[in-house]
This record gives sequence, C-alpha cells and structure tokens, in this order.
Amino acid sequence: MLNDYYKKNPDQITLDKLALRVFTPGAQLIERVDLFDYYQDVIETAARNCYKSEARLGISRDMFLKRRIETGHLSVFEHRVVTARLIMSRSASHQLVRHRIAAYSQESQRFCDYTKDVIDIVEVDEGLKGLEKEFTLWCLRPPSVKTERQIANWEMGVLVAYRSYLRLRADGVPPEDARENLPNATKTEIVTTFNLPMWRHVFTERALNPHAQWQIRGIFQILLTEFTRYMPVIFGDLYDRLAGEALKNPKFDAREHVKLYLHHDIVGTDWWKEEADA
Ligand SMILES: Cc1cc2nc3c(=O)[nH]c(=O)nc-3n(C[C@H](O)[C@H](O)[C@H](O)COP(=O)(O)OP(=O)(O)OC[C@H]3O[C@@H](n4cnc5c(N)ncnc54)[C@H](O)[C@@H]3O)c2cc1C
Repeated sequence: MLNDYYKKNPDQITLDKLALRVFTPGAQLIERVDLFDYYQDVIETAARNCYKSEARLGISRDMFLKRRIETGHLSVFEHRVVTARLIMSRSASHQLVRHRIAAYSQESQRFCDYTKDVIDIVEVDEGLKGLEKEFTLWCLRPPSVKTERQIANWEMGVLVAYRSYLRLRADGVPPEDARENLPNATKTEIVTTFNLPMWRHVFTERALNPHAQWQIRGIFQILLTEFTRYMPVIFGDLYDRLAGEALKNPKFDAREHVKLYLHHDIVGTDWWKEEADA
C-alpha cells in the first residue's frame, strides 16, 4: 500500500517489494441461464408475427427458428441480448471493443487503484520495519512465454512497468496519468452485452477464425460451447463448424488456456480470485 513512507521515498519502491500474480483469461455468463429457453419463445413470437403463423406457436419452435437462421432472417434474434463478463489482458480488450453494436462496462484504470492489492511480504528490511505489505499486480503470461529465459524477460518487463506506475503514484501523479505506464498484460474485466445476431457475428470472427488472437479466440470458443448448451437451435450450426474446422490445429488449442468461470447471478468483487486460488 502507498503509505507516507513511500510517498516521501518513491525510490524505495523496489522490485523485490512487488509481486505478479498470473490470471487465467476467461468468461462468466451474467445471466439467468434458465431463462434462455424463454428467450427463444420470445423470438419465436416475434418471428411468427412476420408470417402470421402464430397458430403454430410452440408446436415447432426449434425447427422454425433453425429455418430463420438458414434463410438469413437473423433480425428476429435481435429481440434478446446476452451479457457476459470477460476477463482478459488489457490489450485483448482492445480487440473486443472493436465490435461496435454492443454495450461495454470496463474496469477503469482511472478509478481502480493498482497500488492497493496487497499481500503480506515475506521479508522486511531494516529501513522499512513496520511495513508489512507488498504491491501486487494481476497480469497475463501468454502460453508462448514458457522457457526460463522467456519467463524471466516477461517478468522483468512487467515488474519494471509496474514499479514505474507505483513510483509515479507515490510521487503524486494521479491514476489516470500513472496508468500510462501499466503493462498491456494487466488484467481487465469487461462486462459485455451483444444481441444474439451480434454474438453469432463475433463467434464467427473470433471463435471460428483461426487468425484471431489465441486469447480472444479461446474465450469465444468456450462461450460458443456454452451458448450452444443453452440455445442449440440458435448457435448449434456455429458450434458444428467449431468442432469441424477451427480445431484442426492440434498443436495449439486456445481453449486449454482460458477458463469458463462459474455463472453467478449476482457477483461480488474478487469473485475470480477465489476461483483462481481454488
Ligand atoms: C484476425 C483479425 C485481425 C484484425 N486485425 C486488425 C488490425 O490489424 N487493425 C485494426 O484496426 N483492426 C483489426 N481487426 C479488427 C477488425 O478490423 C474489425 O474492426 C473488428 O473485427 C470488428 O468487426 P466488424 O468490422 O465486423 O464490425 P462490428 O462492429 O463487429 O459490426 C458488426 C457488423 O455490423 C455492421 N456495421 C457495424 N458498424 C457499421 C458501420 N458503421 N457501417 C456499416 N456497417 C456497420 C457490419 O456489417 C459489421 O460487420 C482485426 C480483426 C480480426 C478478426
């Protein structure tokens, strides 16, 4: 924690007082998943209005909705949206927000204080007696960073960036400016809402596209699997493509490096840390 000692002596924030904690990128549905079946009823009602075939409501819903997808009549699916929380590196979130027909609420590096996530330090040197905390940053270590040398380089880069953030903060620079020095690897959480056709679009661009970056690809692949579990009629065709095409590269399965966090209707802070520690 930034206390008076550090505020007077920013240079005393040294690398040995910092800790990096590696998070697993992933996603969490923030939805009542039991309502997904009802969503499909709403969409059927809307779509049947186009054909005035309400007499058949509930009789052949799944076949009817599937046909709408096959014929490209996707606008009827816009009557419902789904919200998920994505946990990813700050750099990956820049890719996500390129999708424009969406609502996003992202962890703010202006209002969140990255000096405050503290854990006990193991050793306290003479000059710092009484200070029992160190600084901790949650960040992403990509799976390609795996040899001892690569990890050492990655770690040093992130630590030096983080130290610079902390020293600027200690020296009176506000979070909104000090954050310029936080690394791209910094964890971010971004609550994302798309309507159902947008989910289909983003799954196509990010889950089924082998050129999409592994982090966003893995996250959208596990989400596509989850969406198909609850709404197979609407997402099953994309899931079949995922199974058939996108996983052809046996050397690297992005899904192994991401995680589906538990569904919660109401979520407190630090929910993902508890799971990461479990
Ligand atoms: C593999 C990959 C590499 C990429 N590399 C780069 C890169 O190097 N640099 C970079 O800047 N971006 C890059 N992107 C991002 C990309 O250019 C798009 O910005 C992003 O994928 C959003 O998709 P979208 O264009 O379909 O738009 P979305 O915002 O997802 O919109 C969905 C659809 O709505 C329609 N739409 C939305 N807004 C408009 C509009 N204003 N006018 C007309 N139609 C609209 C379009 O049909 C669009 O396809 C990359 C994406 C991928 C998947």
